[in-house]
Amino acid sequence: MSARTRWFIAFAALLALLPVLPVPEFWITQLNYIGLNAIVSLGLVLLTGVAGLTSFGQAAFVGIGAYTAATLAVNVGLSPWLTLFIGLGITVLVALVLAAVTLRMSGHYLPLATIAWALSLYYTMSNMEMLGKYDGILGVPALTLFGTSLGSGRSYFYVIWVIALLAALAVIHLLDSRTGRAIRALKGGTTMAEAMGISTYRYKVQIFVLAAMLASVSGWLFAHFQRTVNPSPFSLSKGIEYLFMAVLGGVGHVWGAFTGAALVKLTEDQLKDWLPRLIGTSGNYEVIVFGLVLVVVLKYASEGLWPHIERLFARFLPEKRRVRDWADAAPLPERSKPQPGELLLEVDRVRKQFGGLVAVNDVTFQIRAGEIIGLIGPNGAGKSTTFNLISGVLSKTSGRVSFRGEDVSALASREIARRGMSRTFQHVKMLPDMTVLENVALGGYLRSSAGMAQAMLRLDRDEERRLFKEAERQLERIGMKDQMHELAGNLALGPARLMEIARALCTDPALLLLDEPAAGLRHKEKQALAAVLRQLKAEGMSLLLVEHDMDFVMNLTDRIVVMEFGTKLIEGTPAEVQDSPEVRAAYLGTEH
Ligand code: ADP
Ligand code: MG
Repeated sequence: MSARTRWFIAFAALLALLPVLPVPEFWITQLNYIGLNAIVSLGLVLLTGVAGLTSFGQAAFVGIGAYTAATLAVNVGLSPWLTLFIGLGITVLVALVLAAVTLRMSGHYLPLATIAWALSLYYTMSNMEMLGKYDGILGVPALTLFGTSLGSGRSYFYVIWVIALLAALAVIHLLDSRTGRAIRALKGGTTMAEAMGISTYRYKVQIFVLAAMLASVSGWLFAHFQRTVNPSPFSLSKGIEYLFMAVLGGVGHVWGAFTGAALVKLTEDQLKDWLPRLIGTSGNYEVIVFGLVLVVVLKYASEGLWPHIERLFARFLPEKRRVRDWADAAPLPERSKPQPGELLLEVDRVRKQFGGLVAVNDVTFQIRAGEIIGLIGPNGAGKSTTFNLISGVLSKTSGRVSFRGEDVSALASREIARRGMSRTFQHVKMLPDMTVLENVALGGYLRSSAGMAQAMLRLDRDEERRLFKEAERQLERIGMKDQMHELAGNLALGPARLMEIARALCTDPALLLLDEPAAGLRHKEKQALAAVLRQLKAEGMSLLLVEHDMDFVMNLTDRIVVMEFGTKLIEGTPAEVQDSPEVRAAYLGTEH
């Protein structure tokens, strides 16, 4: 059992004891509210902290859960255990509609959109006759379980906290899984995740729905705890407060949600007591204080409080390290590989115009299986654009790309990745707070299948072992096995580039595309990289090497395509290219 598991059990045991100890009723009630709020904040940890999608509207989903529970129990007489699932069903439907409308928005539009639907859901709830308008619904029955009433605060404490801790556990499991890595990849922009075959939109929707479901469960709990429901706890300001809890506690951390929920609840009560006395009139002044604190937290402790608490505890904990339990795991499935010499990639008069600028001007070349092709040219020649046209990141103005005999011109990058083309990036794209091994395992995404539910229930362990075994094998292949447990963010540029190659290899590619892998590397690192590329070729891998540095490609490639001003200048063997006066002129003309 890991030290963290022991802490978790100790924490749960302590909580379980509280209601039977002579703890005053007031504190039990406080803890109940903290649990309810933490469940909602937990959704925000996933949505905002991990996936990078800010929502001010979670209170509206709490409202959906609460109102469904209240109205169906009071007006229809349904069992609360049934209304929980009906509420979740309605929440999922509403969340899916909102996701379809808002999740494709980028930047600040998404948070603004959440404010808009939070307000409209709030006013809908407040104005519906059947929901009692502003008076709400009174007389919600208490929960009963096997004939026992859970009406007292002390017994309800167990209901709330069992659900809160189970939810926390599920989220912890989720984050350490295939889908969890995919979700964590959303934050750094979508290009890298899509290149690994991840449908970023689908995961945004899934996370959005999951966060809404957590909020809805909290609402259901709330209705049976308060025994009455009215609109005010589901307003926009409460939505902002949930986000505040998550951010204050540490929006990237599961236990941050609990820390934030506790802090906000406890200070809120103190402020409600003290502020009116200081100011002389009563009102919701605590909101102003929270706003100010939020600004300070964002400025000086943007990660929130939990990471600091964790550091204090860390002294008493052994270092968190993944147990290497995959030694005898089965290999992941492999795709059938092209025969040496087979026509692999056909780039046929591809063209890209950015407004008036022709960045790629009808470029044509081919790659056969087993070859290393260099695509070189001075800065701004159109290499990266060509690369992005091939890999599906950019759409072509005209022209055709075929891969293994199939026209892939119109496919999205993740579909092209699925067919066996894998890539690295000119500017390394990785998840700095994951280990090297986990980053590389992201490459195995398409060769595995466990979904969110499997991850949360820990039914994905077999496949996880297979993924890590493959990731370790690829790291070994490029000589980085020793660094697999390091945080990727601590790597120097050279090893980071190699890690990207290992990640691309983990996809089991038929063609590997590398965009300026040697740029910015020191001499030693360049040599290490060249050795890896030679070895890959010896193993039969096909490579397209986009490079600015002519010397680097000279001794590595079978053929070189030279570009200048978007146009293919010549194509030939390294010797032919080296001797070409046009190439020399192109490089001299723009470089020195
Ligand atoms: P290279 O990789 O060879 O250095 P690029 O393919 O990055 O060259 O760029 C080729 C040309 O296209 C440059 O003039 C660049 O400014 C232009 N370009 C690249 N991307 C865009 C874009 N998204 N919008 C407009 N112009 C672009
Ligand atoms: Mg470039």
